Amino acid sequence: MLSLILFGCGEERQTEYTFYEIKLAYDDQENKLAGEMSVNYVNNTGVELNHVCFHLYPNAFREGSNQGVVSLANYNRAYYNGKSYGDIEITSSNYGYSLIGDDENILKVELSSPLAPNEDVNINLEFETTLPEINHRIGVGENTINFGNAVPILCVYENGAFDLNGYNSNGDPFYSEISNYSVKIVFSEKYVIAATGEKVSESVEDGNKVVSFNAEKVRDFVFVLSENFNVISSNVGDTTINYYYYDDENPEKSLQTSVLSVQTFSNLFGDYPYNVLNVVEASFVHGGMEFPNLVLISDNLANYETYTTVIIHEIAHQWWYGVVGNDQFNYGWLDEGLAEFSTALFYDINQEYNTSRSQITLRNQSNYNVFEKIYTSVLGDVDTSFNRALNEFSNEQEYVYTAYVKAYLMHDTLYEFLGEKTYIKCLKYYYKNNMYKTVTPQDMIECFEKVSGKNLQTFFYSWFEDNIIIG
Ligand SMILES: [Zn+2]
Repeated sequence: MLSLILFGCGEERQTEYTFYEIKLAYDDQENKLAGEMSVNYVNNTGVELNHVCFHLYPNAFREGSNQGVVSLANYNRAYYNGKSYGDIEITSSNYGYSLIGDDENILKVELSSPLAPNEDVNINLEFETTLPEINHRIGVGENTINFGNAVPILCVYENGAFDLNGYNSNGDPFYSEISNYSVKIVFSEKYVIAATGEKVSESVEDGNKVVSFNAEKVRDFVFVLSENFNVISSNVGDTTINYYYYDDENPEKSLQTSVLSVQTFSNLFGDYPYNVLNVVEASFVHGGMEFPNLVLISDNLANYETYTTVIIHEIAHQWWYGVVGNDQFNYGWLDEGLAEFSTALFYDINQEYNTSRSQITLRNQSNYNVFEKIYTSVLGDVDTSFNRALNEFSNEQEYVYTAYVKAYLMHDTLYEFLGEKTYIKCLKYYYKNNMYKTVTPQDMIECFEKVSGKNLQTFFYSWFEDNIIIG
């Protein structure tokens, strides 16, 4: 995500992927998404399981939720029509289940018999998601209807348990593993759809569009509807890049930035491995948001230069988050710091944008120092460590100035220290060795150490943990 206020080098583990077969129908009178899903879950945990867990992210939006879905500063921009609520209700399953977590945000499915390692199980769920009226990842927005995190998604099993972290208004509080999806969606024919994956069929029946998508090796499935979408497209190799827009006076330029982003990052880090990328102008409270094969770019940005930067940043997330995944709740800086620094690398290579890494570095140093000074003078102290969970940051600014700005400065310092050639070689190795996996900060450190031949533990941890002086 890009906010407006303004991380063993990977071991072979998962070989078979969970398969989600989903049928969805959207009722735009009631703002309700009815769903049926059949999940073929492969037990890659190495241990016997008696239950599996799913995130129910829409329940963060329900009345009485313990978790605000936006910060106070973003409240009015998000709730354009006053406070509005949404939720997700599980209406049926082929197994017993219960809702757990502070906001009933976790679905615990009890298996009728233990699931042995490497065995699979089919879990059937029926559900109904109510969308709030809000300019957010999920919501009926002013110009687009966004279906981010709208369907149940499996929790990641690690360290002997399922990860049950819930929603947080800070950052992108999501963590999921690579899966395959087949999704059929029915909605009023007046809408144009942008979605994760390749469209395999589209028909119109009784005033409704029926559209099917296949998405392989993706971490999530998302779609967006709008009556207002225009679509223009271009190709990079085997990848079709579609730009969906309604309020952009420079659509060809935005498409060109998207094309150059895919070309630049493919050259720098390794090929973009999917056949489609959808860049979608949308009603969205923050600057932009990354999803597999699809990025949201806010229609409410200050100027076109910022709009361009958000396109580049969100596309960089296709490498850092999409292909190389990480726990975005516990290590949000891992993908955000790299997305930020990748954007600066883009600008150095594509000089026609008249900006550069050195300019961005100077600006970030200045912004970071101002942040540190103001917070120190107001609060007496400031915690600039960033290797912590989203719910451990005092506020959104503390998160943004550390997980984005300070993490950018860490990469910039490393780039200067190792030199361009070695730094890029490290990222190529990091990408290639961790494709379709999830990484930890230590995995990233080990990649940089292996390729550069240098001991970098102290370097990284001094940036993670300390209030270092940035001059
Ligand atoms: Zn981001």
